[in-house]
Amino acid sequence: MKSKKALQKALYGVREFDRPKIMAEQYCTLAEIASDLIWKAFMLGDIEDKHIADLGAGTGILGIGCILMGAKKAWFVEQDSDCISALQTNLIEKKLSKKSYEIVQGDIRNFNTHTDTVIMNPPFGTKDTHADKGFLKKAIDVAPVVYSFHKSETFQFIKAFTNDNHLAITHIWNYKWQLKPTMGHHKKRLEQIGVVAVRLEKK
Ligand code: SAH
Repeated sequence: MKSKKALQKALYGVREFDRPKIMAEQYCTLAEIASDLIWKAFMLGDIEDKHIADLGAGTGILGIGCILMGAKKAWFVEQDSDCISALQTNLIEKKLSKKSYEIVQGDIRNFNTHTDTVIMNPPFGTKDTHADKGFLKKAIDVAPVVYSFHKSETFQFIKAFTNDNHLAITHIWNYKWQLKPTMGHHKKRLEQIGVVAVRLEKK
């Protein structure tokens, strides 16, 4: 992909969850936001020719975007079998070479492949308060550089986590995230939440 626009266009076609599961906090990253963060990561030299892990890959928009931007290989780690089928369809529809990815079905806790960069949109920890912490711990175990989305209101927690774990927050990007009214408790109105993406590095 030669431009952020081209990447965004390619990611518009990525299918989302059929029936998002509230307890697993399945929010798909929107194409505009996914392409923006992946483009930034690409410009910082963290994508091209790199091994990437997409933890909690869902239907794969983040890892797919990385492959489209020249990643050597992406690992899609996801525990939900419904997501995995949608992910497989997406990979086929995007005509990505089988050599460019691996699907790892299971809990991220059991993923131990060392990669160059993790990119993830973990559960925000609204339903399970420790979910994002487990993702951050695993991410920094398997890669020296991590891109991760979080609810803006949990930023203090992210900061504390990075201090406790000798990590540097090298970049912070703020986004407004429009939640689609697909989930039961969002039925009444469109909800907009503040989301922060961070780039973390081991000190
Ligand atoms: N990365 C996708 C989906 C984000 S939603 C996107 O950006 O669009 C978070 C995903 O993490 C969900 O698909 C959920 O099923 C998955 N997930 C939650 N806990 C998990 C765990 N412990 N191990 C593996 N996947 C998990």
